[in-house]
Amino acid sequence: MLSVVQSRIQFPRSRARLDGWHLLLYPQPMKTTPRTRKLEELNWMEFKRLVPKQTDAVLLPVGTVEAHGVTGLGTDNQIPQSICARIAGNVNALIAPPVHYGITKSLLPYPGSVTVLPDTFENYVLEVAAGLSDAGFRKIVFMNGHGGNTNALKDISARLYREKKAYSMVLDWWALCAEEVKKVYGHVGGHGGTDETAMVQVDHPADVRKQDYSKDLAFMVQPGLAATPFPGSIMLYKQGEGYPDFDPAKAEQLMKVVCTKVEQTILDVFRRWSRIR
Ligand SMILES: [Zn+2]
Repeated sequence: MLSVVQSRIQFPRSRARLDGWHLLLYPQPMKTTPRTRKLEELNWMEFKRLVPKQTDAVLLPVGTVEAHGVTGLGTDNQIPQSICARIAGNVNALIAPPVHYGITKSLLPYPGSVTVLPDTFENYVLEVAAGLSDAGFRKIVFMNGHGGNTNALKDISARLYREKKAYSMVLDWWALCAEEVKKVYGHVGGHGGTDETAMVQVDHPADVRKQDYSKDLAFMVQPGLAATPFPGSIMLYKQGEGYPDFDPAKAEQLMKVVCTKVEQTILDVFRRWSRIR
């Protein structure tokens, strides 16, 4: 009897649980914490043990290469990866290798900015997500760092269900967490402004080049004006608000509240999805 049960169920290594009748009365499948949450660091045998049995959710960071005031050209890639690294364990997801190149428009003329065409982006990211679905993930979170990608990602999300029956969500952290930014700073953020600069500062302090900063880098987004190149690599959305702050303590505080909000949102959506499937 014992050997039959043991052959079918993996048990925790704890000796206490393996002793006596406890084993027969309360057999519990082993729940292991993955050695790493990064898909690219797992080998195929580890992956096979984990997906989809222990997790069927994956976070896919998506960004672009674009000028951002005094932070790096990869700001939109760095921030989603920072968020994913902090929340993956709490939402029981793996982290897929990121999509670094996205749809850059009005800041493309700035030195170092790069884009791909919207059709190319949509086909490529859809194929990446479909591949993750084929690999066993049934829940895919597009952790987006760049507003120019949003519409394409929403289309991809709809197509992913039609074509693969995978559930997915697009998370624009800065839009989801606009209230959190206001709570920490007392005002709204901006592109390459308060919120993005702070989020980069936490994990990449050396990439925040305060010595290159002047208020003149910022320009207001105004109704009735569309210019390429946009006249500032820091885009403000409200008069007098959104300039970088550079305060490391506030930056840490923002990272914390953003991750909490993103994590709670994902868990809530997952819980609601479980009622559907
Ligand atoms: Zn950005």
